[in-house]
Amino acid sequence: MATVIVLLALCLLIVTLSYLVCCLASPWGTCLRCRPGGKNRTCLACNGTGRRPRIGWQLYVYLRRLHRDGGQ
Ligand SMILES: [Zn+2]
Repeated sequence: MATVIVLLALCLLIVTLSYLVCCLASPWGTCLRCRPGGKNRTCLACNGTGRRPRIGWQLYVYLRRLHRDGGQ
């Protein structure tokens, strides 16, 4: 039983790390509202650019700002 838990924790760690690397490698993902090919100039989510920052990247920026503002 303990082996299963260790394996699950390891899998979670690997998935999290690969997602973080993915976010750092390309912080900008495609907009899910207008999709590639159907770029919409009036899209409010991406301001018509078709690209949006990833959730992980937004979280990283938020945490960095929180750390910078709180660390004085
Ligand atoms: Zn969009």
